[in-house]
Amino acid sequence: MAIQVTNSAKETQKVGAKLAKQIKPPTIIALISDLGGGKTTFTQGLAKGLNIKEKIVSPTFVLERIYKIPKKSYALYHYDLYRIEPDDILIDEILENAKDNIVVIEWAEKILQRLPKDIIKIELSTLNDDRRKIKIS
Ligand code: ADP
Ligand code: MG
Repeated sequence: MAIQVTNSAKETQKVGAKLAKQIKPPTIIALISDLGGGKTTFTQGLAKGLNIKEKIVSPTFVLERIYKIPKKSYALYHYDLYRIEPDDILIDEILENAKDNIVVIEWAEKILQRLPKDIIKIELSTLNDDRRKIKIS
């Protein structure tokens, strides 16, 4: 378990980029925070660390976005469960995609009990406007 405090969105992105260098499929990253806690910001850094050049936006209105990772045979699957009541079909799809890819999930607390134990859990809490506490476990 690691706890760190960041003082800007950029610093949070750097934490995500650093994590990106340490992972390969199968990986599930569960992001947990309040609205504005920095889940999408963290994912932007993660994508950058995976050398993805596309702009990462919150997939709030589309459930899932897939970003190809340059020079790799796998992709980054980005889910946002904010507006969703996840059902078994969705959970199965997430687990299936995680076998061969990197999966990152915003609002993962909605399905945490149904995910395997060996996931990376990232909890972001807002200390003030620009400060976030990031717990990685
Ligand atoms: P979420 O996806 O959890 O709703 P976002 O990443 O979309 O959150 O939004 C986080 C907002 O907080 C962004 O506007 C970002 O610029 C701002 N912010 C300020 N400080 C930080 C920080 N230390 N870490 C992450 N985001 C920060
Ligand atoms: Mg978001």
